[in-house]
This record gives sequence, C-alpha cells and structure tokens, in this order.
Amino acid sequence: MIFQVFLLGVLDIFGLASILPIIHLTTHQELIFTNNYLHQAYQFLHFTSPINFILFIFFLSVIFFVVKNTIGIWISHSQIKFFYEIASNLSARKLKQFLNLDITAIVSTNSSVFATNISASPAELSSAIMLPLFSFFSELIVVLLIVIGIFIYDFKLLVLLSIILIPTVIIFYRLIRNRTYLMGLEKNNSRYYTFQYLYQIIHGYIDVVLMNKTSHYAKKFLEKNKQLNHSLTQLTFYETIPNRFIEVIAIFAIFMIFAYSAFMNIVDTGFTTFLTIFIAAAYRILPSFNRIIISIVRIKANQITLDILEDIPNDPATNDKIIFENDIEAISIPKFEKSIEIKNISYQYKGSTEIALSKISIQINKGDIIGFIGTSGSGKTTLFNILLRLLIEQEGELLIDGEPIVDSTLIGWRKMVGYVRQDYFLIDASFAENIAFGVSREEINEQKLKECIKLASLDDFLKTLPNGIETQIGEKGSKLSGGQKQRIAIARSLYHDSEIILFDEATSALDHETENEIIETINNLFVQKKTMLMIAHRYTTLKKCDRIYELKNGKIIAVHSYEELVKQRIQLN
Ligand code: ADP
Ligand code: MG
Repeated sequence: MIFQVFLLGVLDIFGLASILPIIHLTTHQELIFTNNYLHQAYQFLHFTSPINFILFIFFLSVIFFVVKNTIGIWISHSQIKFFYEIASNLSARKLKQFLNLDITAIVSTNSSVFATNISASPAELSSAIMLPLFSFFSELIVVLLIVIGIFIYDFKLLVLLSIILIPTVIIFYRLIRNRTYLMGLEKNNSRYYTFQYLYQIIHGYIDVVLMNKTSHYAKKFLEKNKQLNHSLTQLTFYETIPNRFIEVIAIFAIFMIFAYSAFMNIVDTGFTTFLTIFIAAAYRILPSFNRIIISIVRIKANQITLDILEDIPNDPATNDKIIFENDIEAISIPKFEKSIEIKNISYQYKGSTEIALSKISIQINKGDIIGFIGTSGSGKTTLFNILLRLLIEQEGELLIDGEPIVDSTLIGWRKMVGYVRQDYFLIDASFAENIAFGVSREEINEQKLKECIKLASLDDFLKTLPNGIETQIGEKGSKLSGGQKQRIAIARSLYHDSEIILFDEATSALDHETENEIIETINNLFVQKKTMLMIAHRYTTLKKCDRIYELKNGKIIAVHSYEELVKQRIQLN
C-alpha cells in the first residue's frame, strides 16, 4: 500500500509539474522548433502545423490525467476495502472472544458493551483510526515528494511554504486537540447510554407502559441521544475548520508576497512565475495539509475506541480455541452408555462470598429421571449450568461413562444435552424453524419435525393455527403461553436428538390444561427412554422421577422418592 501511495504521489507530481510547461508552450510556440526533443517528436509524428501538435499534447495530457485518476480510484477502493476487511476480521475475533467468555462475565456485563465492542468499535477502528492514520502517512508522502520537487526548483519557495504551513498545523492542532478528545469521549459515553436506554424501552416495553414510565425512560433516552448528536455535530464541525483556516493563511501569504514585492519594487516576469508556482504548489499541498489535520482530529476523537476494544478480555489462550462448530472437522461425541457422575462438585461465583454449590455428588444412570427441588437460590440452576459446562466447577469433577468432558468433546456433549428453561430463547421465525433451531427452512426434515411435534404434544395447538407450523412466532415468542414455549423447547431438544434433557421449570403455576400437556410430554419422553433431570415446583411433574434431590444453600439435604415426597407434604419451593 505504501508503494501504491508512492506511485500515486509520483504521478501527482508529474501531473502537476507538466501543466506549466504545457501552458508555456501554448504561448511560446516557437519552442516546438527550438527545443530538440519537441522538434524530434513533431517530425517523427509527421505533424504539419504547430497548433495541431499542441492540441495533440493537450490530448495526451488529458489521457494522462484520466489514467492517473482511474488508478487513483482503484487504489483508494482497494485500500478502503482492506481496512474494512480488517474490521470484519476484528468483529469475528471479538465475537469469538465473547463466545469464549464465562457465562458469569456475560450476565454481569451490560449488553451494550458487547454490542459496541463486537459491532460498532471494529468499524470505527477502521473508519476513524486506521484510515485516517493511513491517510496521514500517505498525504505526508505526497507532501514530501512535492517538497523535494520544490526544493529542486527553488529553495526560497520551500522556506516560504514551511514558514507558513508548519506553524499553522501546530497551532491548529494545539487549539483543537483537547476539545476533540473530550468530544470523542462524550460521543462514546452518550452512545453507550443511548443503546442501553433504548434496550430498556424495547425489552421492558410492557412494564414501562404499565408502570406509566414512558416519559421517564423516553426522557432518559432522548437526553443521551441529543448529547450524542451534539458531540457528533461538534466533531463533524471541527473537521470543516482546517480547510477555512488554511485558505485564510494561504491568501494572507500571497498578499504578503505581493506586498513585499511591491515594497521592494521587484515585480517582473521571474517573480510572476515564482508566484504562479507558489500558487500551484499550494493548490496541491493545501488539500493534503487539510487531510493531514483532519486525520489527526479524527484519530484524537476516536482514541478511546482503542480502549473500548479491550473491554472484552482478550485471553490469548481462548483466542485460538475452536468455538465455531464449522471449524471442527468431525465433532467427537462423548460415549454415554452408562452414567453421568457428578463427583464432589463445588462452585463459587466470582466476587460472591457464599458458596453456590458445595460438594455435590450424584450418580445418574442412563434412562434415569431425576428431580431437583429446593428454595429459590439453593443452587439448582447453577448445577445445571455445570452439567452444560457453561460453568466449570472449582472442585470435583463431572464424568460421563467415567470420562471427563474435554475441549474436543465439549461440542459433542452439548449436542447430546437439551435444555428446557424458563426464559427460553425463541427466534422471530416460524414454529418449524424454532423447533429445528439453527437449520434453514429447506433443510428441515419434515418427517422428524412431525414426530417431535407429536412427542412434545404440540400438534393439537398447531392445528388451531391457520398456517400451522409455518406460523410466525413473533420476537421472543410474545404471542405464546409459558407452557407452549416449554413444549417448543422440548420439541427442539427432540429434533436435535438430545439424549439427556434438562428441565428448569417455570415457577409460575401453569394452568391445568398446559400442565397436563407437559406431563403428557414428559411421559412421552419417558417412553423414549431419555435421561431427564428436572427442576420442578409441582408434584405432578415429579411423578415419573426415580429419585428427587432436595437442595438447600448449595448442599443436598435429602433424597426422596415421589411417594415419600407426597406423604411428607414437603414444600417444593
Ligand atoms: P436456584 O436455581 O436454585 O434458584 P441458582 O443456582 O440460580 O439457584 O443460584 C444459587 C446461588 O448463586 C444464589 O445465591 C444466587 O444468588 C447465586 N448466583 C446465581 N447466579 C449468580 C451470578 N451470576 N453471580 C453471582 N452469584 C450468582
Ligand atoms: Mg433457578
């Protein structure tokens, strides 16, 4: 790219330097006969009139400029493309880093941080730091080439230009440096809150409206949004100043030269040429200086982007760890024919003083149905997250048929486990696509889809919909009841052949009909000999359980059978 810039710079200088002689030739046509090279060209090309020859040179010159600028456009395109490709790569890398994060880091960080870090900042790094930096250096190369040209032509001119331009840049930079940096900070800060308040309004729509807080949240958002646009106004405005500033300085310089010459009485042809060259050089150099200043301003304003990009911890160890499933040639599925062993597992959340799980040991055989009960906060969900390897225990181990889950079997393990939970993730697509999650519509196995719908007891409900399985669910399934969402989740696990299904049942009591359907579904899974672990809040769901573990403060305090549970009337939550 430096070579390209250099090439373009040389062509620029050549183009600039060629204009004066050509103009000169028009007024001094006799040169065609007195200049050796011109005369030879004139004869070689069989020209008979000087006017035609001059027109021909004009034509060549225009062609040169067309070619030069076509190359320029092509080079600009390839350079800009290069920088935005860096942005794409960086986003991909940031996404990987995000996906490699511990689940606790994800839940404890505001999602606007991730949105900025993965999507906005890489693009900004390209547009507001790397491109300006590159523009800075390429303009510097152009300026240096011109300076060398001027130096060869006339040393005085160089001194004059330096005296005028260098202090201009320095003064301007000093004036604007701090303000720009602060505005850049403000821009990032207000953008962050703009996103955050907007997410709050979108995701919390129902509560915001019901609690009559629309004006409160709208005001917060609009305030930050206004601030954001104010800082953008200032930053954009700063970029328009250098141009004006430079023009004033240039005009001032020209008049200074005139005044000096008038004062010293040296207005002659040599002087006029000097002035013409000064103006021509200024004509090419000033826009470069303008871009140099703008680059500096822009980099200064976006300096913070570099820090923001560090917000997702970049752990070199996880950086190259494979996380996109497609990266893996063959997913190795851990062998699961006998048992899952939870051995002495303890877990404590980072920054928490209480231990969330303490020395939990459970032996689960294939085909077992295990229940978990216990008050809210007793560690049930944490245990499930350990089983899913979303959290990794600090003590103890998880063994599948006696083997621990390692990096190479992790994806295979997750494929085997279906997770049906309360805040289930539904995509804004059809029922079919939600069940065959992650499979495009054309590739869905219709036969299998039908079976899963039946097993999950969804068929009666789907029959009532005019478009059946093609009906759109709506974002986050807002059109569905809790029981329906749960059954979609079950159908999804079945579609993906999960051997093991984890239920984290919603606390809120479901209506009787839905409850019966869920139980029916569970019975279906029982017939399918699936291994099931369920966190339950109602007796009925626990009916098929082989054993029921009661948790309290992260410890197993009792193991019950369903009959005992009913007999002792143990509270479920
Ligand atoms: P349950 O599912 O039984 O209601 P959890 O497993 O969700 O309980 O929580 C167990 C304990 O761990 C609780 O005291 C809870 O406050 C704590 N906890 C859960 N998630 C986090 C987290 N991300 N960071 C810190 N503490 C957590
Ligand atoms: Mg829970």
